Amino acid sequence: MEDNINKSPSVKERKVKGKVEIDIQKCKGCELCISACKEQALSLSNSINIKGYHYIIANNDACNGCVNCALVCPDAVITVYRTHPKKKPVDITPADIREQLQSLIVPTK
Ligand code: SF4
Ligand code: SF4
Repeated sequence: MEDNINKSPSVKERKVKGKVEIDIQKCKGCELCISACKEQALSLSNSINIKGYHYIIANNDACNGCVNCALVCPDAVITVYRTHPKKKPVDITPADIREQLQSLIVPTK
């Protein structure tokens, strides 16, 4: 007898994957992260945020957790997690780079 609960064929069984969260209200749609993502996991939304910018959306099925997007984001609005089927997601965003970037951002009036 076959198990009739099959796994989705679209979900690959990679042990370690990535997952990104984007603070969409702070994204300015500069698209630097899209260029930095070799997995083509990021794209520009058709919708706009409260600032009037098209923001980034992520296809986390394609994300491998390389962190490139978080490194290039000038406003440090991307958080990257490393995920594992049997473990809790771990925030792997370089905290020191985020702090450095945020200290460079001059608040606008
Ligand atoms: S962590 Fe890497 S693979 Fe994932 S969205 Fe960012 S650049 Fe793409
Ligand atoms: S690099 Fe940052 S600000 Fe620019 S589009 Fe990507 S998430 Fe938005």
